[in-house]
Amino acid sequence: MDVIDLRSDTLTQPTEEMRQAMANAEVGDDVYGEDPTVNKLQERAAEMLGKEAGLLMASGTMSNLVAALTYCHRGDEIVMGDQAHMFWNEAGGASALAGAQIRLIPNDDQGRIDPADLEAAIRPPGNVHASPTTLVCLENTHNRCSGGVLTPEDTAKIGQVAHAAGASVHLDGARIFNAAVALEVPVKELVKDVDDVSFCLSKALSCPVGSVLCGTRDFIDRANKWRKMVGGGMRQAGVLAAAGLVALDSMIDRLADDHANARRLAQGLANIDGLTVDPDSIHTNIVIFEVDPSLGPSAKLIGALGAEDVKVSSPSPTAIRMVTHRHISSDDVEETLSRTSKAVRALR
Ligand SMILES: *Cc1c(COP(=O)(O)O)cnc(C)c1O
Repeated sequence: MDVIDLRSDTLTQPTEEMRQAMANAEVGDDVYGEDPTVNKLQERAAEMLGKEAGLLMASGTMSNLVAALTYCHRGDEIVMGDQAHMFWNEAGGASALAGAQIRLIPNDDQGRIDPADLEAAIRPPGNVHASPTTLVCLENTHNRCSGGVLTPEDTAKIGQVAHAAGASVHLDGARIFNAAVALEVPVKELVKDVDDVSFCLSKALSCPVGSVLCGTRDFIDRANKWRKMVGGGMRQAGVLAAAGLVALDSMIDRLADDHANARRLAQGLANIDGLTVDPDSIHTNIVIFEVDPSLGPSAKLIGALGAEDVKVSSPSPTAIRMVTHRHISSDDVEETLSRTSKAVRALR
């Protein structure tokens, strides 16, 4: 039996074309700004996203951290959704290293935050008792909200409230291209109302390493200093950037296949007694479903799936996450459904 690994789209391996491009990449010392392949990737990414400049980072976590460091002084406040990746999965970096206090407001099931909640949460500078809200963070697609997608309108409303109060908006767009493909809108439209955006090369786009942070020239110049401080000044990084250029050229349109597979997976899971998911709420490549308490905590089903050679992850004690990606075919989806039925039966 082949293992079907649905833990994450970060498992994707570089394509043959990427390996060739990496082997042949023209490189230089990027800390001196002299790596032509890195420069090309940064310019290309910025142009695609409609921003002035880009900066290659080691990871999405580093991009988000550097954004927080660039905007915030110690004691400032960052407002974000209560399901944000920056809050749950980045080791507390924005608090520990940027010295910012995190204020959480509710995310809805698609990963949106309510502009009215934001308006009520924002605290302007000038009050000696308050930690001023310098930054608002959005996430698109939303990891812990089943890959939910923010539309350009959702993002514009948040931008308006934040900017009116003098706060900046950082978009954690680790999977922003999944959102663009799902909505069939140019990615530029999705990020036009945020001050900066980071996206991951190393997820569904299949690169081995990397993320790009994009924003104004001034923001990127300041971010470059913070990137250096946290150890992200890389030298002949063109070897990595070469794969990124291949990804931006050839790996975006195929994301639609991952989305179709995720939708089909959710439809099948919804038909298995004891599992709950609304297939119509699945728009991209992340499927999160609830496990009925009669089957025990989700860890039990994860164990039973493991015995069937299906690997998954667990966002909570009652839920399971399956992520489709380039190495998951539509046949794998059908096979996953039949193994999941078997695993559920084994628990009854
Ligand atoms: C994966 C992810 C990150 C972090 O990216 P890494 O490259 O794994 O550090 C940030 N935000 C979201 C929404 C993610 O899914």
